[in-house]
Amino acid sequence: MSTPGPAIDDARAAVDLAFADVPRPVAFARGTCGCSECLEHEATLASHTRDTIGLAELGNPGWDPICFASDMAFAYYLPALVRLALTTDAYLDQLCFHLGRSGRQAAITREQAAAVLAALWAMVEADRVDACDAPGVEDAIAALEARLAAPEGEGA
Ligand SMILES: [Zn+2]
Repeated sequence: MSTPGPAIDDARAAVDLAFADVPRPVAFARGTCGCSECLEHEATLASHTRDTIGLAELGNPGWDPICFASDMAFAYYLPALVRLALTTDAYLDQLCFHLGRSGRQAAITREQAAAVLAALWAMVEADRVDACDAPGVEDAIAALEARLAAPEGEGA
């Protein structure tokens, strides 16, 4: 585990601030499917907050509740995803995968996209990640930059 530097701490604080007003949704899953996988992911997301959820719940790419989260739930939990990426070396790929997924950028405002983008750049600048060597990071940065270029309310 790397020790977060001041720039990374600042970036994390800015992300928390940008998402401070996002309410905790009542329901978390994207659809109404009642299969056991959907029900378990719904239960996991519903039994945590963005302050309590961690790698135990989110760290397995093959069993990832965020893949099943609604856009509202994604926006609510995104500060937790950023926190996991910034404070452990185990979550960055998953964060970038989610940020690069089609439609997810529409769930966040430009201000929020700017804060998340700054957090990714803070990791690049702290040599926690080599953007040229991690296609997922490059894709996530491109998706966030596209969100910043889009008019408010018309995310990619
Ligand atoms: Zn299902």
